[in-house]
Amino acid sequence: MSTLWTEADWDAHEQVQVVHDHAASLTAIIALHSTHLGPGAGGTRFWHYSDPSGAMRDALRLSRGMSYKNAMAGLPMGGGKAVILLDKNRRRTPEMLAAFGDAVEALNGRYVTAADVGASEADMVAIRQRTAHVCGLPVDAGTVGGDPGPFTAMGIYHGIKAAVAHKLGKDHLKGVRVAVQGCGSVGGGVARLLAKDGARLIVADINEARAKALASEIDGKAVAADRIMGTPCDVFSPNALGAVLDDAGIAQLDCAIVAGGANNQLARPEHGDQLSGRGILYAPDYVINAGGIINVSLEYLARERAEPSDINGLRERIAQIPVRLTQIWSQSDASGKGAHTIADAMARKLIGRS
Ligand code: NAD
Repeated sequence: MSTLWTEADWDAHEQVQVVHDHAASLTAIIALHSTHLGPGAGGTRFWHYSDPSGAMRDALRLSRGMSYKNAMAGLPMGGGKAVILLDKNRRRTPEMLAAFGDAVEALNGRYVTAADVGASEADMVAIRQRTAHVCGLPVDAGTVGGDPGPFTAMGIYHGIKAAVAHKLGKDHLKGVRVAVQGCGSVGGGVARLLAKDGARLIVADINEARAKALASEIDGKAVAADRIMGTPCDVFSPNALGAVLDDAGIAQLDCAIVAGGANNQLARPEHGDQLSGRGILYAPDYVINAGGIINVSLEYLARERAEPSDINGLRERIAQIPVRLTQIWSQSDASGKGAHTIADAMARKLIGRS
């Protein structure tokens, strides 16, 4: 018999709540993987699942991922994630958002939500009318919080510089070839920061016009989306979809480093071993892409716990991302274990699960 705890992604989650509100047509799952370090923080995914068991898999897997990400970012936050199961038309109503806000509020601060795939800032503002336990709300320019994308990009930029130093022995990016997959909020931000330092950018997006516009802005080159993974380069930076590092994807790679912001880049853990077997340095995704969650968590902590936070403190925390990555790579070099294995072990120790 299949039960929650025989699911492949079950990891002794502290709490998994299924929320049904018939009047509001809301079906949602809120998964709290660990509150060892603080309230479980992680976004709410708004998605249509043709098979609802996919929603449970996402909630279990993504909430564990948030425990690892928040721990490795040094945040006083645990890991949680919610999914709202939408109909085929992905319709949401004010009643649905209000009912979801009530469900978050009922957890009394054990779960702090934010936007994830399919959610907008406006959804978060609506949820906020029912609960204080929301972050990623609109803020004034120049202050902590709001859109996580630019801060995710900033962390990845620092992480790529550290990877280039570690693997290629270079203390600069001049002439370093970086292939960027995905030219959206994160990929576009990463490409612009790298270009300022003299890196040579090759960019791709399924939205070709977006890739071409970015290439001309940063004096880079745009290639077709299906060619980016096989493009000869120093760094391949995945900033679009998850699971691009599978058998076929890794076979195409012609790079020394993989470092980008997409979540869940490894199709399976053994693909991390394949990368290290090929001598490719891998920046574990949940370590390098934590800039955005650091930004919105500091917003939450400032508002709800009156903790001091300013943009310089945020930058200092983001600057710790390359420090953590370098620790991982050094341990990986010394032990012969892949960076993904080292990172998972470090994260589990931090959340008291070693
Ligand atoms: P986005 O929607 O702004 O941009 C994604 C871009 O990828 C789009 O331009 C899209 O057209 C393109 N794309 C989709 N499929 C592609 C493919 N097969 N090949 C090339 N391009 C493709 O999203 P984003 O906020 O930039 O997020 C990008 C990735 O980073 C996602 O995996 C997301 O989960 C992850 N991430 C984002 C943040 C954040 O702060 N926004 C934080 C952590 C992780």
